[in-house]
Amino acid sequence: MQIKSKLPDVGTTIFTVMSSLAVQHNAVNLGQGFPDFLMNNELIELVNKAMQKGNNQYVHTNGLPILREQLAEKYKKIYDANIDADKQITITPGGTYAIYTALTTILNEGDEVIVFEPAYDSYIPNIVINGAKPVLISLQYPNYSIPWQEVKNKINSKTKMIMINSPHNPTGAVLSEQDIQELRNIVANTNIFILSDEVYEHLIFDDLQHQSILRYPDLLERSFVCFSFGKTYHCTGWKIGYCISSSTLMNEFRKVHQFNCFSVDSSKQFALAEYLKNEDAYLSLGKLMQHKRDYFRILMQQTPFKCIPSHGSYFECYSYDGLSNLNDKDFAIHLTKNYGVATIPVSAFYKNGEDNKAIRFCFAKNETTLEKAVENLVKFKGE
Ligand code: GLN
Repeated sequence: MQIKSKLPDVGTTIFTVMSSLAVQHNAVNLGQGFPDFLMNNELIELVNKAMQKGNNQYVHTNGLPILREQLAEKYKKIYDANIDADKQITITPGGTYAIYTALTTILNEGDEVIVFEPAYDSYIPNIVINGAKPVLISLQYPNYSIPWQEVKNKINSKTKMIMINSPHNPTGAVLSEQDIQELRNIVANTNIFILSDEVYEHLIFDDLQHQSILRYPDLLERSFVCFSFGKTYHCTGWKIGYCISSSTLMNEFRKVHQFNCFSVDSSKQFALAEYLKNEDAYLSLGKLMQHKRDYFRILMQQTPFKCIPSHGSYFECYSYDGLSNLNDKDFAIHLTKNYGVATIPVSAFYKNGEDNKAIRFCFAKNETTLEKAVENLVKFKGE
């Protein structure tokens, strides 16, 4: 049987490629972004309890009402946002699904979407499969800031959406209040939608404040804001996230969602609704992860790699410029096979494979894992 591929240019995601290679070569896996430490036991107990109580059937397609109410309360508290739990929040099977659903809700054939590169690797295929066109803009090296003038230049009557992501994967760059102001000026009096990927909202360092779109009601009117419980509670394998939007946009989002997955894991939603009452569990996260970033950074000073500072997320990128002639993909493979450390080549986040000789490390790991990785990397002297 012949198939006309909707994604002819897409291969296997780099996360699968590098994680498989790590297993094959018994390498320390600092590639794919997931914690290797245990999640909170109280949350596990809450899931067990929910299951034993019989909460194992479908919940509402929009998500368990008490979970949505807890989320609305949380965002009132932390961002002073007035979110209607009934109309503006939908629980999804993960943040990536929320992003895909938002794009599918909005995009029509021929629409243009502004995407900043390096970009998380699902964005572009998600745009293309909907018949739309990604319009690519490179973030400015080395602090990966948004060149707002270029954004203005690339906007035209076909521009349907701008995608932002802060804290940023893979670079750890964080948007400032000034960036939000630029965005606001650009979209004012247009029909441009915003997709804001905020899955790392609590993983923010150096006393920076997360500029959630939820803080800006005028922007939320035109935005889909995507979140992940997996990133917040160290359970990426649970694949539970959510999307927050205006009630009008959310109404349309739900039409797509209800016939795709219908509803999300019930017992975990009961557990999360209870666990969300513990605000310390998410408010302490930035500090915990900053500690890991700092520890990793200090260890990495023993190696010849040059740090490209991260201010948020699970990740920090390092440059190997001047240390090897290999392109970054081959270099990442080389490190995995011969030095026992798996990373992600940053070119995987560029459509045209732009190679700045940088690799991404995930530091959301036990200290012993980070130590073991760096112990291996110290042996690398450049080649
Ligand atoms: N978000 C994770 C990362 O950037 C990976 C998720 C995935 O493997 N699809 O590493």
